[in-house]
Amino acid sequence: MTPTRYRRLAPLLLALLLLVTCPLPGSAAEQVPVGTWPLRPQPAVAHLFAPPPTPYAAGHRGVDLAAAAGQPVRAALPGTVTFAGSIAGRGVVVVDHGDTRTTYEPVDASVRSGAEVDAGDPVGRVRPGPASHCFPATCLHWGWIAGQTYLDPLLLVGAGPVRLLPLVAGASLVVATAPPGYRPNPSAAFQVSLSP
Ligand SMILES: [Zn+2]
Repeated sequence: MTPTRYRRLAPLLLALLLLVTCPLPGSAAEQVPVGTWPLRPQPAVAHLFAPPPTPYAAGHRGVDLAAAAGQPVRAALPGTVTFAGSIAGRGVVVVDHGDTRTTYEPVDASVRSGAEVDAGDPVGRVRPGPASHCFPATCLHWGWIAGQTYLDPLLLVGAGPVRLLPLVAGASLVVATAPPGYRPNPSAAFQVSLSP
């Protein structure tokens, strides 16, 4: 390659290099890992995700899944239990997945903080009572959080078709399509950052 030709190609090569080493904001927003439902069989969704417009405003920071009292609750993704106990009288389990974490409540925990869990591993049982967002019915409140940003956990278990996207550094993430008619909050979803 002559020096002149190289000079012409250099910007193109640099652009290609940036393309393969930098996540693309537009597509990265849609890339979420594929998890499992915390309840089996696949539960009905009692209340959808309704993120608050500001951090302290009213909203629903997760989804409520119809449950039976005492039903086993399972980790949606592999990770490490970082909290298993009571917050303001509610049994809560938090599982850290690296870039994000999932929360489950009200739950009587069967794991301890520090435990490693795989997707589908039991972390506790649904606790009925007034702490339930569906009281007097029973349900599991399931949250998904990246940093301080609440995300829609139903994105983890998209009921529609899924497709594999090639991603940088050899990692593959799956784009999950939410159930028909379901519209996740785009601004919240956009803030999720899942680097390999
Ligand atoms: Zn709830």
